[in-house]
Amino acid sequence: MNATTTTTTTSTTTATGQDWRRDAMCAEVDPEVFYPLDLDPIGPAVTAARGICADCVVRLNCLLDVMAGEDPARRWGITAGLTPDERAAVFAGRRSSSARPGAVAA
Ligand code: SF4
Repeated sequence: MNATTTTTTTSTTTATGQDWRRDAMCAEVDPEVFYPLDLDPIGPAVTAARGICADCVVRLNCLLDVMAGEDPARRWGITAGLTPDERAAVFAGRRSSSARPGAVAA
């Protein structure tokens, strides 16, 4: 058997050396807001979660973290202001662009 395991990690710290999760706006909000049953991308539940993420100072850290480690089979809820389908599209685009000759992976 020839198995290859790829592990991707991202930094959990900011430039100031602090864990970026300390500054996450969602830490101050009911987690249910980010796991609505209705994932209509323009519906009120998703819009409410997106509004919180839009003001979050660590959104980029959050996006990089989820892109590096999210299990596609367990993709659920709003993270970094994106629905599961939107994150899947970002992930697919990233894989696609990194597969092009001369492309540099982020
Ligand atoms: S961007 Fe990420 S860390 Fe910030 S509120 Fe949204 S889910 Fe939480």
